[in-house]
Amino acid sequence: MAGAWRPASGGATFPVRDPSTGEVLAEVADATPEDGIAALDAAVAAQEGWASTPPRTRSDILRRAFDLAHEHEDDLAALMTLEMGKPLAESRGEVAYGSEFLRWFSEEAVRISGDYRTNPEGTGRGIVLRRPVGPVYAITPWNFPLAMATRKIGPALAAGCTVVLKPADLTPLTTLFLVELFRRAGLPDGVLNVVPSRDAKALSEPIIADRRLRKLTFTGSTPVGSALLKQAADNVLKTSMELGGNAPLLVFDDADLDEAVAAAMQAKFRNVGEACTAANRFFVQEGIADAFTAALSAKVEELRIGRGTEDGTTIGPLIDDRAVDKAAGLVDDAVQRGARLVTGGERVDRPGTFYTPTVLDQVQPGSDILTTEIFGPVVSITRFTTEEEGIRLANDTEYGLVAYAFTTDFRRGQRLAERLETGMLGLNTGVVSNAAFPFGGVKSSGLGREGSHEGLEEYLESVYVLTPDP
Ligand code: ADP
Repeated sequence: MAGAWRPASGGATFPVRDPSTGEVLAEVADATPEDGIAALDAAVAAQEGWASTPPRTRSDILRRAFDLAHEHEDDLAALMTLEMGKPLAESRGEVAYGSEFLRWFSEEAVRISGDYRTNPEGTGRGIVLRRPVGPVYAITPWNFPLAMATRKIGPALAAGCTVVLKPADLTPLTTLFLVELFRRAGLPDGVLNVVPSRDAKALSEPIIADRRLRKLTFTGSTPVGSALLKQAADNVLKTSMELGGNAPLLVFDDADLDEAVAAAMQAKFRNVGEACTAANRFFVQEGIADAFTAALSAKVEELRIGRGTEDGTTIGPLIDDRAVDKAAGLVDDAVQRGARLVTGGERVDRPGTFYTPTVLDQVQPGSDILTTEIFGPVVSITRFTTEEEGIRLANDTEYGLVAYAFTTDFRRGQRLAERLETGMLGLNTGVVSNAAFPFGGVKSSGLGREGSHEGLEEYLESVYVLTPDP
């Protein structure tokens, strides 16, 4: 923090483990609440200078950080695979995706515009300035250790905000290296301060309660997001919340079967299913259901479990024992309630926290898997008859982050875009995340958007100035 690496004030550390072996990879400084406030002090001290730094300079630093992320692609990918478990090819994919937020917002930094207008009565001129909201506290999850950080840091820095960043304690290493890359890119001291901590609540509460903080941005579970919103309410903080999902994936009779299967594999098994965008509930129309289930299950049986560092691995470990217990519990509950286990459904007898890729067909109403974010490699298929029924089933959830739909009927696609309660829709595609478009949810999936120009708006506020006629 404040431009220098330092131990935690109490001297404590916590271990970071490799989920594919259980072995300790590194010991990381365990920031105390005092360290958190010291990080905020640094961010507050740097705020004015950073806000008045020329946009081109801010842009150049972001761009250098993007270039450095690519130069260090192998290091970043290795760190992600070691601490989080995903296969190396996917980690490289995350370097490409995650760094794109640095490039995109380096381009946006020089395009922050205001407004100058005659007022409707014709008796004055209004000017609207856009200025950075102020110091930001960013809390990120473990599933995309790089991208979840860049998605917040990129727009915050572009807008002229300074940042205190708290990575997930399960995966702090990638984030720490990213922050080091920013230092090498020439970011001034105090603009970005990282505070890993095992006790997120104790660290965060005083930061959020501090009146100098002006913005809270969080990606994680809905219960934690909701608790943070309550804390943020005390000081009326600007907030962005990327919370849980329960994505429906609809396959209609007229879908291209091969395309739907290939995309569904990505929507479900990318990141071992540990993504808030992962397809959680498959709804397949009766006419195509047997063919789709058979083709998908055949592909699922080709997946190879292993350490993310091993060649040929397509399914890494889940993040920890709790994640395995959760997946296993959801599968057992669904089977007890009448689902058919087509493939998988087993824990894996080897070190690390693995669960076999699983397909459940004919999942019955009332099964926990339909209302719970699985966060694991489990496909849950329910069959439906009419488009109306498909839409009703898809919308029958408190969440609304992303939906996927497969149909070759363009007008049906239009109807789905208008009627599905979702912030994002993958129409005949299984991956929607892209730095150039607004990522975010409706209903209990969150508030605000990340990526695109909208992502920058989250870190800006308007100041309206009224002037008389010239
Ligand atoms: P997940 O289930 O993905 O771990 P969480 O919502 O528990 O999601 O965690 C996401 C991030 O929020 C992590 O960085 C975690 O340390 C942090 N976090 C968890 N609980 C709290 C809390 N009470 N206050 C602040 N941050 C928290």
